[in-house]
Amino acid sequence: MSGFDDAFLHEVRERNDIVSVVGDYVALRKAGTSYKGLCPFHSEKSPSFHVHADRQFFYCFGCQTGGDVLSFVREINGYSFMEAVRHLAERAGLQIPERTHQAHGRDDERSRRVGQASRQTRDGLYGINRIALTFFTETLQTLEGAVARDYLEKRGISRETAAHFALGYAPDRWDGLIGALQKEGVDVRLAESLGLVVQKTSGHGHYDRFRNRLMFPIRSVAGDVLGFSGRTLGNDPEAAKYVNSPESPIYQKGETVFGLFEARQAMRKADRALIVEGNVDLVSLSQAGLAEVVAPLGTALTAAQCRLLKRFVPQAVSLYDGDGAGREAAKKAAATALSEGLALSVATLPDKEDPDSFVRKEGRAALDKLIEKAVPAWEYLVGKATDETRAFESAQGKKLAIERLAQVLADLSSPEERTLYTRQLADTLDMDVKLVTDITRSVQRRTPNNEMASGHNTFDAAAPTNEAPLTAGDLRLIELLVLVPEARALYFGRDVETLVSDERTRLIASAVAESEGDIGDALGVIPQGIVRDQLMRRLADSPAPSDGVIEFEKMLKTLRRDAIERELQAVRQNERRALSVRDDDAALLLQLERIKLERQLETFKALRD
Ligand SMILES: [Zn+2]
Repeated sequence: MSGFDDAFLHEVRERNDIVSVVGDYVALRKAGTSYKGLCPFHSEKSPSFHVHADRQFFYCFGCQTGGDVLSFVREINGYSFMEAVRHLAERAGLQIPERTHQAHGRDDERSRRVGQASRQTRDGLYGINRIALTFFTETLQTLEGAVARDYLEKRGISRETAAHFALGYAPDRWDGLIGALQKEGVDVRLAESLGLVVQKTSGHGHYDRFRNRLMFPIRSVAGDVLGFSGRTLGNDPEAAKYVNSPESPIYQKGETVFGLFEARQAMRKADRALIVEGNVDLVSLSQAGLAEVVAPLGTALTAAQCRLLKRFVPQAVSLYDGDGAGREAAKKAAATALSEGLALSVATLPDKEDPDSFVRKEGRAALDKLIEKAVPAWEYLVGKATDETRAFESAQGKKLAIERLAQVLADLSSPEERTLYTRQLADTLDMDVKLVTDITRSVQRRTPNNEMASGHNTFDAAAPTNEAPLTAGDLRLIELLVLVPEARALYFGRDVETLVSDERTRLIASAVAESEGDIGDALGVIPQGIVRDQLMRRLADSPAPSDGVIEFEKMLKTLRRDAIERELQAVRQNERRALSVRDDDAALLLQLERIKLERQLETFKALRD
């Protein structure tokens, strides 16, 4: 299913003890049979985060995050399944087998596309970027780098912060990096494919793309250098302020954000991301203690970037420059975030201020206040649209404002949100909801390829996922299968499967029994939701039974009794039905069956008492 065989995944889990892996991120203390610590996934003062060494899984009673060692690494780093496996395999010094060619849905878009370049090529390209990174960071400390060091000092960026983000300097010449690459024996065509060097138009040879720039490495969530973003330090008004690496086999524009690698844990902790436009703003805010900050790398915030952020946090605050361009970018970001279901709020800086200048002038407390006052994306867009169309001055203005917002409404993925926002808009404009809906519909009809206008997507997304919890008996069964090795043998030996009526229980129970009690495998078959939560809560809390086999036999009796009761109920119902249609033969047979079951049940109860 994952593209790795189960034996390999099993080995990855086995060679990475969960207590030691979690211990890399969280200070743990032994408490009874488990370990406790402050949860890295939500803010808390007393520890409700538990790690079980014998059961190899973790669970937080505060925020209900839990799972096995792979899910921990995924959650805390925002890794895809593939990235998590790779990370843990490397941690344990395991050789990663070549993946089978099966398609698998767990992987993210980037890895899939990047997957097209072979692993070897990819590693080679990361290696070249690492050489470039070393060259840039070292050059920052040389005589040539004085101009960049001066700039950092002027912007109040400390040495520690610069080192934390691995900032560097591309010298003001044509043959800086290329020389370093050649000295390392790098194939210049590969360096060219990464956009580090450019081929001369006349004659042979290559030259540096980045010159006289402060260099920011763009990293993947796993820390690999995907490319660079260079801010000019020269006075040439013709030179672009920022030059970013072009697309390459390992870097796709608009699919990653700058600072994610450094911000990922702070984002989880703060339960939000801050989005700023410029890299220097980002570094400056991080230094001011707002470490959960990322930047979209010169593009308007893209749908892919929203999805990437959503892997870490459900909400974000944008903090764009207080100028015309910044406000336009904020509007676009708000619309994109709405359509991707990222709860974005927009904080507005005073005119002509950027986050860096603001925090240095006004201080951290003033910035916190500004962020607190951030306006939810939809409200922000309504405010802008009504201002720009002077909606409160005329009926025509109102209609224009609604028309401007129609596309945003159409792009919402949730019909509930669409209804809610339409009502909100109607309230704001003091209009009838029906009238607002009519206007948005007429605009959407004029726009081709619109899902809402063509009637798709409206009901599917609305289908409620009402998930019934597992019964106490079913929970106990799974719990004992995890905790008691003998129970797993009994599960198949006694045909327990036939006693279970809930399809989900059967699925989970057989996964546990087959996998020798590996909770990781079992959790893999349960989607996020009530059942998963129920199960983890139970496993985090329950002591191992002193005599597991006796407990299991007791539980089996309950299951058997429940099965008889279910059958009895069905027989009674059929008997009534047969009687009502005067099918006497059938009724008689059913009566005999009923009596047999009733006796069985009595025997059972007698045994128990
Ligand atoms: Zn928690």
